[in-house]
Amino acid sequence: MSELRVAIAGAGGRMGGANVRAVAATPGLVLHSAFDRPDSPAIGRDAGELAGAGTLNVAIGSDAGAALAGADIIIDFTAPTVSVMLAELAAPRGLVHIIGTTGCSKEDDWAIQKAGSAGARIVKAGNYSLGLNVLLGLVRQAAKSLPGYDIEVLEMHHNKKVDAPSGTALMLGEAAAEGRQIDLAANSVRVRDGHTGARVAGSIGFATLRGGGVVGEHSVILAGDTELITLSHSAQDRGMFAAGAVQAALWAANQPPGFYSMADVLGFTE
Ligand code: NAD
Repeated sequence: MSELRVAIAGAGGRMGGANVRAVAATPGLVLHSAFDRPDSPAIGRDAGELAGAGTLNVAIGSDAGAALAGADIIIDFTAPTVSVMLAELAAPRGLVHIIGTTGCSKEDDWAIQKAGSAGARIVKAGNYSLGLNVLLGLVRQAAKSLPGYDIEVLEMHHNKKVDAPSGTALMLGEAAAEGRQIDLAANSVRVRDGHTGARVAGSIGFATLRGGGVVGEHSVILAGDTELITLSHSAQDRGMFAAGAVQAALWAANQPPGFYSMADVLGFTE
């Protein structure tokens, strides 16, 4: 079987570099192209050298359309408006589009799904780690089994992160809400400041910390009157997300057009 040709969006970024390394290390995949925004200092650099994967003879370009020509797969960890734009480019070409971008609004998600209905195989996940996706199931179960306990989601990320709470924190909150059979949006407290009054029973709270180079720390705390349960995940290397993205790409290449989650990729869908 011939190798699948992968385009990396945001190749000059933190996850872009991790994705270049993961593609270079995966049999069956070949780095076809890499691109970033036109004013990125990464333009013109060899994607492999920049990522620390050795020379791959793929210069980072700035033209998304040119990068997608001839590609089978695009791996896209960029920004919401960029992922919407890329979905509109990728879908008519029937590409596999792996989206890791977080912070998408409902409108962005809708636009991505609408573009995807043109024939792409899209996988979109707020977290591509295997362990985190297992944790989601544990949180769902704990929230269901401990109905009277207060649920708080705590996260910490590096000081360059631009969205809050993290996509993963929202996924954990969503899993807890599913366990409780409640709507997260209607029952979440995303920020607390000033005279907030007592905690609203049944709500799901979020707390956000930012600093240093932290890749991603998440905890879901279930607080009862006399005990605390803490379910935690600690991301130690971005390579873990990239490995999941590559796994998703290989899986999606054999699926019919559609919109998939990491739970589908891992076979966790009930
Ligand atoms: P980053 O800022 O280091 O990288 C983003 C890259 O996208 C940059 O190089 C930027 O120049 C590039 N970019 C911006 N506009 C572009 C355009 N028009 N065309 C091409 N490239 C463009 O950020 P990061 O830490 O790599 O994170 C990127 C995204 O991935 C964020 O949304 C982050 O939250 C998310 N993320 C998701 C997961 C997951 O598992 N789903 C894991 C880690 C990070």
